[in-house]
Amino acid sequence: MLRLTEVKLPLDHPEDEIKTAILKKLQITDEDLISYSIFKRSYDARKKGEITFVYILDVETTLETHLLKRLKKDPHVIATPDMSYRPVAQAPSNLAIRPIVIGTGPCGLFAGLMLAQMGFCPIILERGKQVRDRTADTFGFWKKKSDFNPESNAQFGEGGAGTFSDGKLYSQVKDPQHYGRKVLTELVNAGASPEILYINKPHIGTFKLVGIVQSMRAKIESLGGEIRFQSRVEDINIENGQVRGVTLASGEYIASDYVVLAVGHSARDTFQMLFDRGVYIEAKPFSIGFRVEHPQTLIDQCRFGAQAGHKLLGAADYKLVHHCQNGRSVYSFCMCPGGLVVAAASEPGRLVTNGMSQYSRNERNANSAIVVGITPEDYPGNALAGIDFQRRLEERAFELGGGTYEAPGQLVGDFLNHRPSTAFGTVKPSYTPGVHLGDLSESLPDYAIAAIREALPAFDKQIKGFAMDDAVLTGVETRTSSPIRIKRKEDYQSLNTVGLYPAGEGAGYAGGILSAGIDGIKVAEAVALSILRNCVVY
Ligand code: FAD
Repeated sequence: MLRLTEVKLPLDHPEDEIKTAILKKLQITDEDLISYSIFKRSYDARKKGEITFVYILDVETTLETHLLKRLKKDPHVIATPDMSYRPVAQAPSNLAIRPIVIGTGPCGLFAGLMLAQMGFCPIILERGKQVRDRTADTFGFWKKKSDFNPESNAQFGEGGAGTFSDGKLYSQVKDPQHYGRKVLTELVNAGASPEILYINKPHIGTFKLVGIVQSMRAKIESLGGEIRFQSRVEDINIENGQVRGVTLASGEYIASDYVVLAVGHSARDTFQMLFDRGVYIEAKPFSIGFRVEHPQTLIDQCRFGAQAGHKLLGAADYKLVHHCQNGRSVYSFCMCPGGLVVAAASEPGRLVTNGMSQYSRNERNANSAIVVGITPEDYPGNALAGIDFQRRLEERAFELGGGTYEAPGQLVGDFLNHRPSTAFGTVKPSYTPGVHLGDLSESLPDYAIAAIREALPAFDKQIKGFAMDDAVLTGVETRTSSPIRIKRKEDYQSLNTVGLYPAGEGAGYAGGILSAGIDGIKVAEAVALSILRNCVVY
């Protein structure tokens, strides 16, 4: 198979133009072409109004060897690399050992799926509820129909933090072994559209994710894995530096020398328990800020010009960075085109924002987090000091919002002009339970407010209208990534606790759905190989 890169075609090209482009590029005839498939499709929007598709194509031809020789100097024609996934291990059929996976976010789900596929029959423990019940609790809270439930919300429950999300599936992690492809392939097997395999920056959308998570659960169970909900791990048994098992909130003890810790970045009680048990943890940088909402049409116009609204382009996104005079960096994060700002708290009396979209991305507003990078020097103390810092900001946001889970908000024009907001303009915020207008400058440290005040006009130079008076800021965004790292060695085990495999976002080894899934695969492989090695030794 040949891989052709940088094949550019106009946005509205007919389907058969791809074939014509292949024949032209390779200078072959129709008879020599057996088949082709799209490996990746992105677009080049640098020239507004003249946006082109850029393809990577895999081509099967009768002349492969000849063409590779003839075009050996052309960097855009290579042999297609083998990206298929091969399991690293297979459990013996009589294996009595069962690894434990804590958490059913993307990291835990993929760790569990891989272990199950390799025959290791994992026991997967999740503190929250099955995704359908969790959806009822979370949406009930957002719509003011039910109370906030600290064990069933936007962070906790089947599918993890990304279940009610835009489902963006891209990451900047290095992935030489193509684990990302395995994650996407399994998501397609579980019901995601096959287009996620070839579209650049694919997304799934929240409602589709719910079905996918259920389908992955069914697959794990059919392979001998067991998933237990409302099973919060409350303690961990470590004997002479070796993990021996976990205790659930119910008091039940489950023994295992292999525990994958995929608890996400909001499992603050679990982090405290691990810290108290002496598991090595260190503080790490993260970011704080607000969500900002603009009309989606403003972003589309700026990015796509005359082609704004084209059905193949969909709703436009953006990515912005500004380096401030006070040494801070402000950047956009988790941008949700045509989406909603959502309540993402996991503790009572504390308030956190985040964003989500449906597959269609057709809500009226674009939203993204506008956040400032901070480091442990900003929150001195022990390894968990970043959590105390987050909590203080989230409590303040709860108070500023009126103590009812409404989020504190301010219009961008008022924020930049140092005056509280009293009424919305043209942009109506999407956050439910509601937005309580006021003065957001009280919600974050002065250096963060100064940095965001400097960044918004700078962003306006890149996206005209970004600092429009009526755009709405909603606070606060504190869970951009984990405030800790549970350090591990090259074999993926904790630095000081044998058999404990810190994984995913909570442990500081992933940021986002795709990278968390990739980390889950890597950790599952490490667990499987370790079990097999130890079986031989015994
Ligand atoms: P999590 O997904 O956080 O999963 C951890 C799981 O562990 C949870 O289900 C939790 O209930 C469980 N758990 C915690 N403690 C315990 C315990 N003691 N016992 C048992 N179970 C426990 N990322 C993207 O890439 N694209 C997006 O579009 C996107 N949008 C997002 C939108 C929202 C609203 C949110 C909140 C996040 C979004 N993210 C997005 C981030 C993404 O969801 C996370 O990076 C990802 O889910 C991390 O995966 P994880 O498996 O490491 O942890």
